[in-house]
Amino acid sequence: MNFQNTREFAQSLDAQDELKNYRNEFIFPKVNGKQVIYFTGNSLGLQPKRTKQYVDEVMTDWANLAVEGHFYSDKPWWDYHERFAAPLSEIVGAKPTEVTVMNTLTVNLHLLMVSFYRPTQKKFKIICEEKAFPSDQYMFQSQIDFHSKLVGFNPSEALVEIKRRDGEHNIRIEDILAKIEEVGEELALVLIGGVNYYTGQVFDMKTITEAGHKQGAYVGWDLAHAAGNIELHLNEWNVDFAAWCSYKYMNSGPGNASGCFVHEMHHNDADLPRFAGWWGHNKERRFKMEPKFDPVRGAEGWQISNLPILSLAPYLASVDMFAEVGMTKLITKRNLLTAYLEFILKEIDNELEGADFEIITPSNQEERGCQLSVYLHGQGRELFERLMKNGVITDWREPNVIRLAPAPFYCSFEDMYEFGQILKQLILEK
Ligand SMILES: *Cc1c(COP(=O)(O)O)cnc(C)c1O
Repeated sequence: MNFQNTREFAQSLDAQDELKNYRNEFIFPKVNGKQVIYFTGNSLGLQPKRTKQYVDEVMTDWANLAVEGHFYSDKPWWDYHERFAAPLSEIVGAKPTEVTVMNTLTVNLHLLMVSFYRPTQKKFKIICEEKAFPSDQYMFQSQIDFHSKLVGFNPSEALVEIKRRDGEHNIRIEDILAKIEEVGEELALVLIGGVNYYTGQVFDMKTITEAGHKQGAYVGWDLAHAAGNIELHLNEWNVDFAAWCSYKYMNSGPGNASGCFVHEMHHNDADLPRFAGWWGHNKERRFKMEPKFDPVRGAEGWQISNLPILSLAPYLASVDMFAEVGMTKLITKRNLLTAYLEFILKEIDNELEGADFEIITPSNQEERGCQLSVYLHGQGRELFERLMKNGVITDWREPNVIRLAPAPFYCSFEDMYEFGQILKQLILEK
């Protein structure tokens, strides 16, 4: 498409946008009385207007039914989480039995590592990406420290990071595959962010998963920036396990519950260790309070506690919206919206003397989702701060990057145009 950097053109794209009405389903903060341009749906998605109703429903049931709400409310609490299996399985390309919702993201990755990181003296290495999200780095280190003392391997050799080549911003697939082969039989686990949080790069999960399996390793994915953003086929790709948070692209509210995936090939493996609790126990017999743990055959078998229903309510509002729209339409809009933003950024960079920035996210649509990371060569943090003051909400990542994620659920093409105008103005003013 031949884009134009004009308000009329942006408005014409909005007029043709099938999802345009969803913008009104979200609550936008205001700066100086004006609705913000929101680019941080990759960090905390906006609040859907319908969410309050879902939370109120639980509050009302609790008030009116108290303990009886577990079984007799319209959406009984004891199996409330089961409502997530169908919509989440659509979002991540899984079977309903392969997904569930519980805990929070890093906690779930730790719990899944209990099952899928069981190092021996010969097979103990973990492959991850260089500069993984800090929480993931702390997780790896603590898992390695925990096991190395018991098993007896050198903890300083256990974590193998895939590096970017000098002068490049993204990791090459051939470098990942070569490293997997090089580590070979010593490889116990590959665990990478499916979409890199810093650059927005999307990894070829199918190929990497296959390569890890060839070395007899388990392969899991941290899908924090992938769930609700990119097309996923976790079942088909034979991914062993995955987890994601719900508060980024999935708009479920701050710090909210995580989703997780365990491939059906593991559901009947009685040798797979796990940390258990009563909510993972055989459903029919859960309240018989038997002494021996008999896990549900499915991702639900990894549940531990009864669920925080007040947290799940906003997440349910969110997955209901995803079910209404479907990932296909979101991805179609995402591609066009991101491409339009890219066009506007490049035009400003070419046109303005004082502008000097570089988009470090892959330009190839297959290798990115809804995020452009912009390295500011000319400007610095001060530009980011002025954008915020002018109602453009982005985020800052050291050393010199702003991340822009135009979430297709609620961002408009006119937002992209308007952002371009504000950016130009701020660069000229300086
Ligand atoms: C956002 C994010 C997290 C956050 O983890 P929590 O346990 O939900 O705090 C972890 N990993 C990645 C890659 C993320 O982007």
